[in-house]
Amino acid sequence: MEAFIYNGLPARVIFGAGTVAALPAEVERLGIGRALVLTTPPQADQGRHLVERLGKRVAGLFSGAAMHTPVEVTDAALNLYRSTGADGVVAIGGGSTIGLGKAIALRTGAPQVVLPTSYAGSEMTPIIGQTEGGQKTTQKTMKVLPETVIYDVEHTLTLPATMTVTSGLNAIAHAVEALYAEEANPVLSLMAEEGIAKLFTALPRIASAPHSVAARSDALYGAWLCALCLGSGGVALHHKLCHVLGGSFDLPHAETHTIVLPHALAYNAPEIAEPMTRLRRATGSETPAAAFYDLARAGGAPVALRDIGMPEDGIDRAVASALRAPYFNPRPLEAEGLTGLLKAAWAGNRPEI
Ligand code: NAD
Repeated sequence: MEAFIYNGLPARVIFGAGTVAALPAEVERLGIGRALVLTTPPQADQGRHLVERLGKRVAGLFSGAAMHTPVEVTDAALNLYRSTGADGVVAIGGGSTIGLGKAIALRTGAPQVVLPTSYAGSEMTPIIGQTEGGQKTTQKTMKVLPETVIYDVEHTLTLPATMTVTSGLNAIAHAVEALYAEEANPVLSLMAEEGIAKLFTALPRIASAPHSVAARSDALYGAWLCALCLGSGGVALHHKLCHVLGGSFDLPHAETHTIVLPHALAYNAPEIAEPMTRLRRATGSETPAAAFYDLARAGGAPVALRDIGMPEDGIDRAVASALRAPYFNPRPLEAEGLTGLLKAAWAGNRPEI
């Protein structure tokens, strides 16, 4: 076996159906006397349920979380946090709400209890992206890693059909890149392969039975494993392209991951023999990149960047931007190959690999 470095991150995870019942005890365990509950506007009702559950240990509800963690929203939430004497946060929602909890933790040291309702995976990472004046900056600091994560499968039953697929493929993309990133190691590869297999087989089952607790359990378990890969592992070309595309053209996060993944994988395939073997096992397909494309298409998710608002003349700009500050990647980045990749992703072509 080759030498490796494994970087484990601390987190307490409570997983299952109905695990929200553990919330008051988990809040107490962290020594939180008055928690500020965070949600997006559409998930405010879920936040109110948590407020009821928390009883005396609640400071208030802030239901204004928004995509890309804008600092104005963080400032408004911080005002409420301070004026109510809160000493911890409880975030229920997807990556946007979890991002707000992290932003408060960054500024105050607040302990966090997170209840994820999508598969994006932010709850397992020490990464925070914030937006100010239209500019997104990302930093990595242990100050934002949530202390406790309660995965309650029942919270994912309401995830809309298309978002289930795009969020699931967003998670799969974390695990795919962990297989061949610079930080790849055999332990993360185990988690990545299992996470991809669980999600890949659960998503079609969810499409035919959206409220199946068994299928949703498998998907959420898979998403957790994929999130661990993002938190402890590394990323490569796929994530670089998604960051460039999201930042330059304001494209939606999970959809962009869904569209780019098959093409980034096809680009790297010639240089990643062992990861491809794992991906064939995880998907049960000889052509994993095509299998991810087919999964997206069958689930009604977009498969072309042109369909989510990317202009065709943006391709050259995106290539130049990716080449200017490249991430590690197993296959060297070169303009012609990247242009071909993005043209295929823009048009929505099915890769054959
Ligand atoms: P999101 O959190 O923006 O959610 C999209 C919408 O779906 C929101 O309105 C949300 O309230 C709603 N929603 C979420 N779960 C639901 C459910 N179960 N039922 C009904 N509605 C539900 O989207 P996301 O894809 O979860 O997160 C994307 C954001 O997270 C991006 O800003 C991304 O940059 C960030 N992110 C950060 C990290 C990190 O490590 N820092 C990792 C992954 C994603």
